[in-house]
Amino acid sequence: MKVPDYFFPLVAYRAWQWDAHGLRSLNGEQWVAGRPLAAACRASNVARPVGRVRAVHGAHGAPQMDCTCGVYAAKNLDHLRQSGYDKYGVYGEVYLWGSLVECAFGWRAQFAYPKALYLLSDTLPVTLAEIRSRVQALISYRKDIFISHHGVRIALWRENSGFESAGLDFLMSRGQHWYDRRTREKTPHRGDRIAILGSGIAVVADVDSEQLHTLLENHSVVRIGRRMVVWNEQNLRWEASPRAGFKNPLKREE
Ligand SMILES: [Zn+2]
Repeated sequence: MKVPDYFFPLVAYRAWQWDAHGLRSLNGEQWVAGRPLAAACRASNVARPVGRVRAVHGAHGAPQMDCTCGVYAAKNLDHLRQSGYDKYGVYGEVYLWGSLVECAFGWRAQFAYPKALYLLSDTLPVTLAEIRSRVQALISYRKDIFISHHGVRIALWRENSGFESAGLDFLMSRGQHWYDRRTREKTPHRGDRIAILGSGIAVVADVDSEQLHTLLENHSVVRIGRRMVVWNEQNLRWEASPRAGFKNPLKREE
């Protein structure tokens, strides 16, 4: 049966892997920016033993009806969702053209190129600098880039006008929320060690909303106001110092 040719591109949906070099198919094949991805049949490259001689299965143009070759894409977002696209970080619309084979879940195409890319907000790095360097690889495809945030679409970069303030604002406030949360959560937990300047090392036995209950090496209990404990980035440890305007911050119980 002859595979029909489509001269006008059709729009379908698919997911990609995304790394510093750009987009990859889920099987690892690189999508080169600015160039259509042309399907090649891997099956036809497999040498198959025929009797005592090895014959190469006749190479054919991809895709073929009775093969599995071609660039895969889903017909709609529902189909794509069913395939668990949200595991991969980038999904989007893709142009398909050339020979197309229709299959249960969508298409197998001869040629493909991205039409628009959606980045799932939950899978993005946190800092703007990191995001920018990764997005740079996607910009080279010269197609619109959006952030998909719990079903809301936010423009990040446009083919004709570059970065969009809506997307950058979103990423910046997201970075700030993350930073605030991290700072809030930056409190010692049970079992952590705290260097109490002038008294030695204590181990956190319990934490309540106001205080840390800690045990010094000599088994005396020291209660420390939570706000007195800071993470020392240089020493990579929690430290408490009886300073900073707190009167009697350390209360010793015998
Ligand atoms: Zn094939």
